[in-house]
Amino acid sequence: MQYISLGENKQRVSLKEGILKGLSDDGHLFMPEKIPELDPEWIKKLPGLSLQEIASSVLWPYVEEELNETEFRQIIQETFSFPIPLVNLHGNIHVLELFHGPTQAFKDVGARFLSRLMSLLHPAGDNKMIVLTATSGDTGGAVAHGFHKVPGIDVVVLYPKGKISPYQEHQMTGLGHNIHAIAVDGAFDDCQRLVKQAFNDKNLRKKIEITSANSINLGRLLPQMVYYFEGVARLQEKREDIHPVLCVPSGNFGNITAAVMASKMGLPVSRFVAATNVNDVVPRFLQSGNYDPHQTIVTLANAMDVGDPSNFPRLFDLFQNDIDEVRRFLSANKVTDAEIKETIKNVFDRYGYVLDPHSSAGYIGLKREIRENEQGFFVATAHPRKFVETIDDVLPRVAQQLREEYGPDFVSQSKKETMPASYNELRQLLEGIG
Ligand SMILES: *Cc1c(COP(=O)(O)O)cnc(C)c1O
Repeated sequence: MQYISLGENKQRVSLKEGILKGLSDDGHLFMPEKIPELDPEWIKKLPGLSLQEIASSVLWPYVEEELNETEFRQIIQETFSFPIPLVNLHGNIHVLELFHGPTQAFKDVGARFLSRLMSLLHPAGDNKMIVLTATSGDTGGAVAHGFHKVPGIDVVVLYPKGKISPYQEHQMTGLGHNIHAIAVDGAFDDCQRLVKQAFNDKNLRKKIEITSANSINLGRLLPQMVYYFEGVARLQEKREDIHPVLCVPSGNFGNITAAVMASKMGLPVSRFVAATNVNDVVPRFLQSGNYDPHQTIVTLANAMDVGDPSNFPRLFDLFQNDIDEVRRFLSANKVTDAEIKETIKNVFDRYGYVLDPHSSAGYIGLKREIRENEQGFFVATAHPRKFVETIDDVLPRVAQQLREEYGPDFVSQSKKETMPASYNELRQLLEGIG
């Protein structure tokens, strides 16, 4: 399998190059040159397969030329080492829980897969490599955990100061060793811009090897397809002919891109719903046909606070860059903070299930779009404990229970590294590490 850039130069690279570079030389995203279709007979057997069996078959075509089977098996075992349960909420609505990993959000799978792939593909003894990444909250913790103590690789995570939860901050700043978490005076978009600047800085890249661990990296994106195969497998244990509606709470649109890629590989899905918060550039695009990025607006679902989703070009490419094709298979739904809160309360009162703010948006999106005769699931992207501050507002007793069950609040560390949103500062920092 070769990977091909979505930019004008259509640069073609191997898996190794794609993973280590992150972006093409002219700053564009890589896509698999084609999406392999799985054997329909295998797809029929989905309900009887385990998570690791599913992951192996789905991901092997993407790596087979560059990994041997032993290496691959080990990556699969270490990546898919926690359960991804499907729970029925009520009637035709199910939730696929992606938050059982070490940082309690779905990004653990992508970060673990990527870190192991990178350390295998990056030859030992070469220059130190720096993984540079911007986070609106959850990426940082997952990447920091995924790469912690991986030899030969340093990690620099930029996050918007004061705009992520103390818990998220703790997951990044508490690790030390090869992990550098920096609070940037600015918004997530500033962090992302600084990262882009570093990648476009040819002089810097001559001196040090940098790569990304954001959802722009294929190594993050590919393993996320497995969620959707797993969800459909578990749903089809009940009835084999189910072609569900899937709803994904979306920020950079990586996770939903993986869901669409899964369907292109042959996974039976009837259609997709992207739920966004008020950062609604994609819902507006589907309405008006104009792609109009904007400054990030801070919301309760902060891992989805993205004004210009970095994976959107991939999603669009999967639909041949044809907006009518997108509209046929995917709808996008905007959810406000008030709706998120109200739904957390209502779903708990009615069904005894606690949603985090992101998953709440996912529930709302699915509920709005699904018809009575359809089955569907949304993905719960974070554990409610991770966003207990919001639960406090609407369900104080439940919040108290979450703290008792999953540990008390984290006090933000006194010694935090901070930085103005200035590229010069970032450059100096990188040169200091590299
Ligand atoms: C990252 C994240 C999202 C958004 O995922 P994208 O792939 O960026 O669309 C949603 N919810 C949570 C909890 C996240 O951490």
